Amino acid sequence: MDQSVVTQKTDIKEKANPKLTQTQPVSISQLKSIEQFIYQLSLLCKGCNLELDNKLAKVRATPLQGEQISEFSQYAGQAEKIILAQHRQMTLQLDRQRIVLGDIVAQLSRVTELPASVSNELKHFTRELEKPSLLVWDLTERLTQLAEMVSDILQQHFDGDTTKLLPKHRQLAAELCSKLAELEFTSAQQPKLTFITQSLEKTQSVEHLLHNYRHVFDLLVENMAREKSASQEFLHALSDTLSAVKQAVTESAQSAVQHQTVKAKLNNEINSSVASIGASVDNSVELNGLKAEIGQQLVLIKTALARKEALEQREQDTLKQALQNMSQELNQVNQEAQRYKHRLVEQQKINELDALTRLPNRGAWDQRLNEAASIAKRDGSPLWLVVADIDHFKQVNDTYGHSSGDKTLQVVAMAIKNTLNQDQYVARFGGEEFALLLPGLSAAEALESLNSIREKVRNIPFRFKSQPVQITLSLGAAAILSNESVEQTFERADACLYRAKQKGRDKVIIDE
Ligand code: GH3
Ligand code: MG
Ligand code: MG
Repeated sequence: MDQSVVTQKTDIKEKANPKLTQTQPVSISQLKSIEQFIYQLSLLCKGCNLELDNKLAKVRATPLQGEQISEFSQYAGQAEKIILAQHRQMTLQLDRQRIVLGDIVAQLSRVTELPASVSNELKHFTRELEKPSLLVWDLTERLTQLAEMVSDILQQHFDGDTTKLLPKHRQLAAELCSKLAELEFTSAQQPKLTFITQSLEKTQSVEHLLHNYRHVFDLLVENMAREKSASQEFLHALSDTLSAVKQAVTESAQSAVQHQTVKAKLNNEINSSVASIGASVDNSVELNGLKAEIGQQLVLIKTALARKEALEQREQDTLKQALQNMSQELNQVNQEAQRYKHRLVEQQKINELDALTRLPNRGAWDQRLNEAASIAKRDGSPLWLVVADIDHFKQVNDTYGHSSGDKTLQVVAMAIKNTLNQDQYVARFGGEEFALLLPGLSAAEALESLNSIREKVRNIPFRFKSQPVQITLSLGAAAILSNESVEQTFERADACLYRAKQKGRDKVIIDE
């Protein structure tokens, strides 16, 4: 055996056992154990690289003895080169996989709202990944862990509401609530409104928010439809706006549904990639193939996650835009509604006043009577309901003309009104009749007040056609009773008026 060959041509062995660099001869038994060691080592490397496998098979098949030693060295030298290249490649791959895995973990942390436990696990995973001591086998282990984590996270993510509410959406929900508070709704709409407001406060998803917007628009449309007769023109303009907004809401909701489908597809892709990794890890006997397979699946997962993230971003942008538009539209509707309300109030004020006497008219009287009656009944305080009628008014018209009659009505109306304090109320009930409300008075006080009105009117110095004319007033009054309707009280007051007329007019009769 040529000892010099053994000592000079075994770079690998030099690294494996520095003692071999010594020039002392190697015994046969030492050679045998080296041969055995190389044999085992070569078996362990099997499966990393086909070329290497071939070379190592030759190394194994060549005994480390006699003339074959140079052949052995030749194969070993070739195998060494392949091993070094393989090592460099593996280090590169390891680094690449570290980066890919790191990216996926970072993406996972971004695209989902993770429970703290999963979040911590991901952080731990990242730390482990960054350790310089990471080995290929560690990586395979980590991949299995990650595959399980991804699977769990995706499951949670896709099971839950996918269009999670952004802070801006919450703000929009709050804005919608305050808008609702500003708008006016009928009592019949109140339960629905309360439901919407409560629902908005608890809004958990964009779909929820969109539904509520839709409910609000329905209410608004309902409101507008109710007041249609009041202002056809306004309604048309408004319903156009509302239709446009409603369409925007519907479109947003539809696009959310479409996105949902695409996401479900992506979910499937990711899930099957994850499953595929799991299967590869389970079934693989060959490290290189496994790595290639895992690398491929990781790229798929990464691409799918990136697509999903982009999709979610687009979806959120669209929704944000749609919601902002709707908010603007709602603001406009609100402003128009305020203007409309203002106009209605003005119109109502005009409608409520009697054109001739400028006293509240019959409609206003009815409303005021009901309000005052319910307050009086609630508080148990007295409320006198009075009917006053000008005596022989027909004669004034007949004798001095209709315009003198009108003038008389105006003067009498003012006279009555001027005797009242601010709690008391008078309306022109119709013709030459007036209706009054005197709250909080005893029978005696009511009688006294009404007599002073009667006195005041009879003392007005009317002159028609240069003649002094005396105008008198008959009054009947009744206090509202808790167990009767306002109509019944009115009838009693009217009956008193009738008696006052019968008793010769210019009288006050109260129903005690
Ligand atoms: P009594 O004392 O019984 O109430 O007699 P009266 O003439 O006042 O009652 P009657 O109901 O017979 O006549 C009411 C008159 O009031 C008839 C109607 O022409 C007149 N009248 C009602 N509204 C107006 C109005 O707005 N302007 C004028 N000028 N007259 C009116
Ligand atoms: Mg009358
Ligand atoms: Mg009369």
